[in-house]
Parts: sequence; C-alpha cells; structure tokens
Amino acid sequence: MRSADLITATSRGLYCAAGGFYIDPWQPVERAVITHAHGDHLRAGSAGYITALPGVGLAAQRLPAGAPLVPLAYGEAIDLGKTRVSLHPAGHILGSSQVRIEYGDEVWVVSGDYKRDRDPTCEPFEIVPCDVFISEATFALPAYRWPPPAMVAVEILEWWRANAKRGEASVLFAYALGKAQRILAELAALTDETVFLHGAVANLTEVYRTRGIVMLPTAPATSSDTMPYSGALILAPPSAAGSPWVKRFGEHRTGFCSGWMRVRGDRRRGGYDRGFVLSDHADWPALLRTFRESGARRILLTHGHTDTLCRYLQEQGIDAAALHTEYGSEE
Ligand SMILES: [Zn+2]
Ligand SMILES: [Zn+2]
Repeated sequence: MRSADLITATSRGLYCAAGGFYIDPWQPVERAVITHAHGDHLRAGSAGYITALPGVGLAAQRLPAGAPLVPLAYGEAIDLGKTRVSLHPAGHILGSSQVRIEYGDEVWVVSGDYKRDRDPTCEPFEIVPCDVFISEATFALPAYRWPPPAMVAVEILEWWRANAKRGEASVLFAYALGKAQRILAELAALTDETVFLHGAVANLTEVYRTRGIVMLPTAPATSSDTMPYSGALILAPPSAAGSPWVKRFGEHRTGFCSGWMRVRGDRRRGGYDRGFVLSDHADWPALLRTFRESGARRILLTHGHTDTLCRYLQEQGIDAAALHTEYGSEE
C-alpha cells in the first residue's frame, strides 16, 4: 500500500486515519461506519456505529439492545476528523450503502456489497464519482451473469404452482436478510397468496414491513401438522435445509435462491431439487460497468474472487490491487 492512502486494511478492518473511523470492522473499534446489516459487515462490540437511516432498524435488531447507532440519511454529509463522509445507496439490501470519503481534493468510495439489478426492497445503486473505488468481488468471474430478476420471479411462481398441483409444498431456501424479502416483494407483483416463513426470516421481514416495503402476506410456519402446507410456499434460511424442521411440510420439493445457482457444480453440490439464480451482488458485467461509470483511476478489491478480477483489470491497464479483509459471502 502507498503511504498516503486514505483507507488502509488493518487487522481490525478498513481504516481511515484522517477521519478516525473504520468501515465494517471485524473487531470492536471506537467509531464504525457500517455499509449494511449482514453479519460479516456488522459486528457487535464497537463504541459507536454510523449507518444509513433506512437500515437502522435492521442494524438495531442484529446488535445488542442499546447499541449506540447514529442514522445518516442518504446523501447527507458529516465531518469525521479531517474528512467529509456521506452514504449512498448500494442496492444490495434495505439500507445498504456505499461510503463516500472526501479528504482534500481526493474522493474515495467503499462499495460494501452492491448490485445493479432492480430490487423492489431497496433504493437503487447510485453512481458516486470517485478517484479510488474499493469494491467487493463476491461474484467476480466471467461465468457470473444474472438473468432478469422478474424472469426468475416467474420461474419461482411456476415451480410453486407445479408442486402445488401435485399437492406438494415448495420449500425455498434463501438468505434470511435481504434475499427472502426480495422474493416476497418480487412475487407480490404476480400473486397475492400467503407465504409461510421460518422464524429467522419472519423477524427480519417485519422490519421491512415497518419501512413500508410491499411484500406478499406471510404467516409463521409454526404448525407441526402437514395440512396447511399442502401446495404452499415456505421460505427458510439455508441453515434449515436437511434439518428436522423441514419434516413438518410432508411431501415437498426444495429450491435454493442464490447467485451460486448460476454454476452447475454448485447446483449439484447443494442437493436441492431446483436452483434459482437470484443474487444481491453485482455480476461480472455489472462490476466492470460500475468501475467505468465511477470514473475511478484506481480499483481496490475486498472480498470474493479478488485475484481473477484484479488480474483482469491489470491486463486492461487499470491500477488495481486486492485488500485483505475478513468479509465472507452471505450467499
Ligand atoms: Zn451483504
Ligand atoms: Zn459482503
């Protein structure tokens, strides 16, 4: 790393010395600016958190009671140390943001996780012009290209209907924060049937409802009787797959909703009856388009397939490097 870098990767997380804050730190710090509420980006124990206003409810639910959370409206700038900081929509999940840091005549943007596809549950990604763009690289392989989300929603509905015709339940596994609510919102454009939810999905869905996100009606999947589930759609986190909890649905088919379903080997390994390609991350073309549109002269990559993307960018003559972080992939 160059000595004058505004943001550096430290053992606690991405650090901005001029501003005296960390971004999505994985160790407790004095002041944390949080891009979104997924577990690998938001961790308990810090003395203060700043996060985008629409995401405060989610962050509050995932942190211990009374955690010091300061909401910041999208686009509103605050002074932190010698820097000006503002948050801008990342289109990843409700309240997700990119962090724009201005210091002297230089602007850095940290993407957090982001996608460019339309999503009825959150504000669309905003292009923030910058000098240096720090990007995720979760799906940074040329094979990752997403089909239109509306088409995937129709596929899910047709699968559900076909299973229902045989009297079978449809158990769809999806990440509990973001993906499950996106499915409920996408399907709301196609039907008005009630969907049953696993408890882990239900709590987070309630937070989305309080933010006015339009989704299908839902009911808790608490009955141990198979009757109510005949022909129904059930949403559950991937951790529930193969667990005894699933037995209550009687005859059923399983599906998995994730960007990983784009690649056949991952589909097979998952052991699901059906895979749906729906991701909350940028695919390969969206990553490249975003770099171009940001106008950044330098790209730094945090997590995912950083090596492949880094090499590709360097071959194009772009100043690119990978940063070491501890972010994972919620998908
Ligand atoms: Zn995320
Ligand atoms: Zn991430």
